[in-house]
Amino acid sequence: MQAVLDALGTDEFAALNWREAPPASFEQIERVHPPRYVDKVMSRIPAWGSAAIDGDTLLSPGSFEAALRAAGAVCTAIDAVFAGETTNAFCAIRPPGHHAEREKAMGFCLFNNIAIGAAHARKRHGIRRVAIVDFDVHHGNGTQNICAEQADILYVSTHQAPLYPGTGHRDEHGVANNILNIPLGPGTDGVKLRSVWEQEIAPALYAHEPELLLLSAGFDAHRDDPLAEFMFEEDDYVWLTRQLLGVAANCCGNRVVSALEGGYELSALAASAAAHVRTLLEV
Ligand SMILES: [Zn+2]
Repeated sequence: MQAVLDALGTDEFAALNWREAPPASFEQIERVHPPRYVDKVMSRIPAWGSAAIDGDTLLSPGSFEAALRAAGAVCTAIDAVFAGETTNAFCAIRPPGHHAEREKAMGFCLFNNIAIGAAHARKRHGIRRVAIVDFDVHHGNGTQNICAEQADILYVSTHQAPLYPGTGHRDEHGVANNILNIPLGPGTDGVKLRSVWEQEIAPALYAHEPELLLLSAGFDAHRDDPLAEFMFEEDDYVWLTRQLLGVAANCCGNRVVSALEGGYELSALAASAAAHVRTLLEV
């Protein structure tokens, strides 16, 4: 988080309109996660030190508030976009969200920020059709788990396979062909990304005609990231962001809300997030 904030705090980004993320309400969270799950997460928060939900997913005394604010950031960004205060927004948040299933925290994730945002947009802003593009190197099993049976939400994921969490196969389609999984092998680079964009991602997005485009923006597909073997570079994130903005310009009045997911090599994470935000600012 600090690496991303430092990168976005330089003079180049002086024009950014920063907003403090408010906590999401329980009503917002519970459109996606049942109250018994929210209570369970809250009950596991340690008074001091740390507690582990699983080998990856640690809790500190501040984790519950951080998780509420991460989801709140996405909802607030969506409100700002629909109010016309900005065309797009990037949510620099921790914990990430895309591994959090309806009733299961895992992979550093407690609440599924992007799915909570999609539900909020549909409830609060009266839209139906949302597209979520997840370019984190890992499959967003949680987002798929929550969205697979919601025909109006298209979930598209590029991810390395085989790799954690082991989901995201091509034959997982959702109830209405609304899940598009594109598993790719180690060594996948920007050239391959361009080809799957043209052949699969762009056609699926245009066919869905989203009224809002949400991004699960993980930067662990960068070539320097230690958790995976994709070979993306900063320029690939610039290119991808421009394509996504192009879809948003055509389908949904430029409305894009992007939420930080993974990224584990700090200088690559900072440079990639900066490249992404620099490109979002072009609109
Ligand atoms: Zn990841």
